Amino acid sequence: MKNRAIVWLLLAGFLAAVFGLFLYLRRPVEYRSEQFLMDTFVSIRVYGRDREKLREAVTAAFTEMRRIAELSNRFPPTGTAEHRTSDVCRINDMAGVGAVRVDQDVFSMLESARAFHDLTGGAFDVTVGPVMDLWGFGGKKPHVPKAGNIQDALALVDNARLILDRKERTAFLEKAGMSLDLGAVAKGYATERAVLALKRSGVEKALIDAGGNIRVLGKSAGNNPWRIGIKNPSREGDILAVLSLEDSAAVTSGDYYRYFESGGIRWHHIIDPRTGYPARGSRSVTVVAKDAGPADVLSTALFVLGPEKALETGKKLGVEVIIVTADGRLLYTLGIRNRLEVLDSARHRHDQG
Ligand code: ADP
Ligand code: MG
Repeated sequence: MKNRAIVWLLLAGFLAAVFGLFLYLRRPVEYRSEQFLMDTFVSIRVYGRDREKLREAVTAAFTEMRRIAELSNRFPPTGTAEHRTSDVCRINDMAGVGAVRVDQDVFSMLESARAFHDLTGGAFDVTVGPVMDLWGFGGKKPHVPKAGNIQDALALVDNARLILDRKERTAFLEKAGMSLDLGAVAKGYATERAVLALKRSGVEKALIDAGGNIRVLGKSAGNNPWRIGIKNPSREGDILAVLSLEDSAAVTSGDYYRYFESGGIRWHHIIDPRTGYPARGSRSVTVVAKDAGPADVLSTALFVLGPEKALETGKKLGVEVIIVTADGRLLYTLGIRNRLEVLDSARHRHDQG
């Protein structure tokens, strides 16, 4: 009797071990890679069965992102190969002179930027280049410009004077001195192109993090939604809420990514095109949507609009919005509440929009 029991036990143990080995061999492998692109670290994490295939997929995704980055970079100096490769540089060089034929992806970005300019009453404007140059966020020495200079630069900011010709696929800035800045468009657009490249390579699970632009494909390795932290703008490393995300994007614009302090004031790089100064009212805006392209554009646009208008516009456009206001409250659209876990540290100030 006793011997029989032992045999059964051994058999059960053996089967469990075989099953365990089976699960172990079938578990998805992870492949990760990181590159510095568009002024930020971009990381791509993918899961699948075959490591070599995953590596190839990620390489293809980065190649696509780099192509978009190079086409939209406005900083390479005149005379360099990078300058000639950049459609944005070519458009800016030809401001006041003539139309420039551009890559289809650049044209799509410009059309999308125009649409969101109109949808947000001008809060979003890619012709903000002259004002950005004054503040110098792209360079080493950002500083508060003279008010008169801001007024002069604002005279050159006007989306209506960016002429797009769909048939010829050309872009033209009508006035000399105007310049495009795709800083709030390119990252999201490139991220979505990267997702396409991954899908083409058969990848079903991925997480792309492009400096606060998060895009997930499918579910996480454990087949649960991915969990994304909403950062506390006031304390580095601190998280206010956790967002469950599946097959969509969560893009954050915040005043803590790129800024300098002067006279006790934080001057950051999200500019209200109506004033030429950094937008106040919000500390961070996260937009949750299917596509990282519109989510990127909207996170900047809604940041400029301020919390109340941002929630209203988000609802109107069918995206979810999470905001940390200048006075530290956490606001969000109702559609996100089942996917957002507000942590205790933020609970006392949580509120719904
Ligand atoms: P991050 O680059 O940190 O993700 P955003 O996506 O919000 O931040 O983009 C900010 C960038 O967008 C700025 O550096 C500038 O290039 C550009 N930008 C700033 N204000 C505006 C605006 N009102 N409309 C369009 N683009 C803007
Ligand atoms: Mg952005």
